[in-house]
Amino acid sequence: MNKAALSVLNTVFGYPEFRSPQDEVIDTVINGGDALVLMPTGGGKSLCYQIPALIRPGCAIVISPLIALMQDQVNALTQLGINAGFLNSTLDNNQALAVEQALFQGELELLYIAPERLTQPRTLSMLQQCSIALFAIDEAHCVSQWGHDFRADYLELSLLHQQFPSVPRIALTATADPRTHQEISERLQLDQARHFIAGFDRPNIQYRIHQKHNGRQQLLSFIRSEHEHDAGIVYCLSRKKTEETASWLCQQGLQALPYHAGLAPQVKEQHQNRFLREDGIIIVATIAFGMGIDKPDVRFVAHLDLPKSIESYYQETGRAGRDGQAATAWMVYGLQDVIKLKQMLDRSEAPDMQKRIERQRLDAMLGLCEITTCRRQTLLAYFNEHLHRPCGNCDTCITPVQTWDGTEAARKALSCVYRTGQRFGVNHLIDVLLGKSTAKVQQFHHQTLSTYAIGSELESNQWHSVFRQLVSRGYIYADMDSFGAFKLTEKCRPLLRGEQSIELRKDNTGKMKKKKASKS
Ligand code: ADP
Ligand code: ZN
Repeated sequence: MNKAALSVLNTVFGYPEFRSPQDEVIDTVINGGDALVLMPTGGGKSLCYQIPALIRPGCAIVISPLIALMQDQVNALTQLGINAGFLNSTLDNNQALAVEQALFQGELELLYIAPERLTQPRTLSMLQQCSIALFAIDEAHCVSQWGHDFRADYLELSLLHQQFPSVPRIALTATADPRTHQEISERLQLDQARHFIAGFDRPNIQYRIHQKHNGRQQLLSFIRSEHEHDAGIVYCLSRKKTEETASWLCQQGLQALPYHAGLAPQVKEQHQNRFLREDGIIIVATIAFGMGIDKPDVRFVAHLDLPKSIESYYQETGRAGRDGQAATAWMVYGLQDVIKLKQMLDRSEAPDMQKRIERQRLDAMLGLCEITTCRRQTLLAYFNEHLHRPCGNCDTCITPVQTWDGTEAARKALSCVYRTGQRFGVNHLIDVLLGKSTAKVQQFHHQTLSTYAIGSELESNQWHSVFRQLVSRGYIYADMDSFGAFKLTEKCRPLLRGEQSIELRKDNTGKMKKKKASKS
């Protein structure tokens, strides 16, 4: 253990001890080695480069894509008595010159720079003339093309290794899937780096995923019954929906603010600041919100729409409970979410290879929604971490999921798709199964089909659940070219032929007995 590092931790930052693996990372970097650090949000990545920055001679250069947060980070360091500055597009010429001056005179311990600024020849030649303690590459997953935050500027960061071969580099991220990990290592040329992977489990977060009926009403009763007056983040897919949801929550007497990339910068800043500084504010946001936000007492993160991947789900829910106190990750999702995301994928202009990967990611996310065993075990397994026992703090652990033999129902549903010519969406199919006499049924003479009225043993919402699970598991898909009509896939055959059976989950609606969540 490095004595100097511990003493800085105690005296400058005021913390008694390191969290694993901070001390090892810090030791590696102080001794001039490269490090690749995978640590969940809130794990304490910043200290991993801040402490070596103070101990090694020269100025540490921190590359971060989060321009909006540089000021906050520099302020926080200044309050601790550390000399830090930042260079980005928010500074005018004079301000930038003053920072550069301080750098040249060796007055800065840390300098935050946006990647596009760093890679300018002018900046690089300036850095060549200074003493550099280390390079910290924050949010390093931005170098990964498959990731959701890809930034072309990050690719150029491999030049750091070429131009400053003797300066240690530390890359940090909260995204831990093996593919991204590999890409970071390759693209930043970190082949000599030591890899540090911290535990990804967040035991104080209770994971819950429920079937969606009336999303915002469910959200309201969730907040009222479990998180009245708590700070929280509600994620939605579209900008419009964040605004509608925020104003609806306000009408219900809650303090909710929208946040998305389409809002004016000063509005965004104002909403973010209120969220950070006031108590009990709910931010209703698109995924534009949250990267790098450090608010320790977010008590819940709610998803009204399905995230695109388990990585996104983990990152977004990870913003809850950073102080270690009990927090809830709550989500509702339904058939329409699955269809919408699959359609967005089909329509996207991305290359086929990328679409295929995105589809796999979405399927993994759907798998997490539909599982009947512990959510945390599945979530962690996705990041190659194995929890040996069910966690006891997720919905499936607290209220074990009931399953039922859905073979007959699934066959009826699939036959109905087939008999109606694979040309209809879920509502009409359910009308046919339930034997309703709607105008559409009349128009297409569907009352004459063999599948007409064969499904009265289930109610409409149960049929929705059956169809959702069939879509999630890839038995049917919504075809965009025919207005989202369901089509059968190859996977149906054994089921239709009677060679296979299928277990379906009984959905629950999201009301849960209040449980004292364990602190960790
Ligand atoms: P990350 O960048 O990994 O999301 P941060 O570096 O912002 O996380 O740290 C999250 C919080 O944990 C901060 O409030 C930080 O001060 C605190 N923290 C970090 N390391 C320690 C430690 N060793 N002991 C106590 N608190 C710590
Ligand atoms: Zn569990």
